Amino acid sequence: MSTIGHWIGGESVLTGNRTQQVFNPSSGEVCGEVELASTVTVNQAIENGKAAYVAWRNTPPAKRAQVMFRFKMLLEEKADEICELISREHGKVLHDARGELQRGIENVEYACGIPELLKGEHSRNVGPAIDSWSEFQPLGVVAGITPFNFPAMVPLWMWPSAVMCGNAFILKPSERDPSSALYIAQLASEAGLPDGILNVVNGDKEAVDALLHSPDIQAVSFVGSTPIAEYVYNQASATGKRCQALGGAKNHAIVMPDADLDNAVNALMGAAYGSCGERCMAISVAVAVGDEVGDELASRLTAQLKNLKVGSGLDNSNEMGPLITAAARDKVVGYIDSGVAQGAELVVDGRGITVPGFENGYYVGGTLFDRVTPEMTIYQEEIFGPVLVIVRVKTLQEAIDLINAHEYGNGTCLFTRDGEAARYFSDNILVGMVGINVPLPVPVSYHSFGGWKRSLFGDLHAYGPDSVRFYTKRKTITQRWPSSGVREGIAYSFPS
Ligand code: NAD
Repeated sequence: MSTIGHWIGGESVLTGNRTQQVFNPSSGEVCGEVELASTVTVNQAIENGKAAYVAWRNTPPAKRAQVMFRFKMLLEEKADEICELISREHGKVLHDARGELQRGIENVEYACGIPELLKGEHSRNVGPAIDSWSEFQPLGVVAGITPFNFPAMVPLWMWPSAVMCGNAFILKPSERDPSSALYIAQLASEAGLPDGILNVVNGDKEAVDALLHSPDIQAVSFVGSTPIAEYVYNQASATGKRCQALGGAKNHAIVMPDADLDNAVNALMGAAYGSCGERCMAISVAVAVGDEVGDELASRLTAQLKNLKVGSGLDNSNEMGPLITAAARDKVVGYIDSGVAQGAELVVDGRGITVPGFENGYYVGGTLFDRVTPEMTIYQEEIFGPVLVIVRVKTLQEAIDLINAHEYGNGTCLFTRDGEAARYFSDNILVGMVGINVPLPVPVSYHSFGGWKRSLFGDLHAYGPDSVRFYTKRKTITQRWPSSGVREGIAYSFPS
């Protein structure tokens, strides 16, 4: 069995620390074990980053961009290998892994152009013969802590921008599917990224806490569940670090009576059951405006669910793979049990399915509940599985009020043909990413990604323009070269 270690100073490192098993969720087999970094190993990575930062900070941005261009080519060349690593440890179907990787590559493409955004601002003659400018300087060594559900893409949201801004980066991927991020770091080295500018430490809470408590880490980007996001944000803030911590979600899609229902149902199928519902932008609540829409949704979704092809992620003909772990499967089944116990109508039950040849995989079939109400646990909590619930309301306003009252505010969407309703909705909804007839409104790489309310702690969003602000600090320089014309005497009043 292979042991998955760390990537420190441009080489693979095994330290003999504690380990944890890594599973192939499609088959339930152990496919490796990952080392869990101790504080000593994390500090070694940080020291490495500190040393490498000194030269990288002063490397011309255009030279850094050349590394990034080569890196993008390597990601494309090695896409099949990367997607297989993703699918083997995560379980998502290969074509879905390909989509994840493509979105990650788009973040790399954006990072190639970051020199344009580091140009700063310049004002001539802010006073007599005085010029002033603002420049954006790197922070130093920064860290990223990422979740299991996008093991390649979410790290690529972070470190390409951070290093293009001149920082050194320590990545702590999810210990459940660590291999793709590690392999991608090796490709970055191959592309010419100097040793120590990107270090990967695998691990669990001990590694995270070592990063949070290190005085040498200047900023922390986190993506994961809300309780851990809140913990990371509080700890990082308490130790004076800049922090953006993206958390969980419960994304609602409102379906209006005038919507194109065929389009809405297709969109809901992909958004609710793609990647087995393990997406922070998955739609997990369909809000039907009117009983007629509710009835139509229930019957059309049921018909589609009958054809949903569930199976191994490594078989590209499948549409939905397994959940990440046996514990995740049991948790999702527990939620379905609770929905039944609390009186929701279970329309399609995904419990207890088996996939021939993969009997030990962590499968739950696509599940649909109708007549779910806001007090139910399956409405309130993020299930993070293939479970869609239908809530019935009478008006658009009632639907908006429902969404605005929820603790999460990551993504949402509205299906309608009414432009006025769409405008009112996008104007008044308390959610960070909004779609109109678009079920997964994940911003493209040149916008930024982030939710509102308890879906994000901090202010700046991930990737795109916000990432350049997050990974740099502004310095404003005011400069005068005294000459006979502007030489002044002593001035005791505030300069104006
Ligand atoms: P998680 O919170 O369990 O883990 C995320 C990271 O935190 C991992 O690297 C993990 O090792 C670390 N971690 C876990 N427990 C910790 C602890 N007690 N102390 C310190 N660190 C700890 O999340 P997950 O299960 O890997 O990912 C799924 C969650 O991530 C879902 O809630 C999903 O909505 C969310 N997510 C959010 C976004 C977003 O952009 N908002 C994107 C992807 C995933």
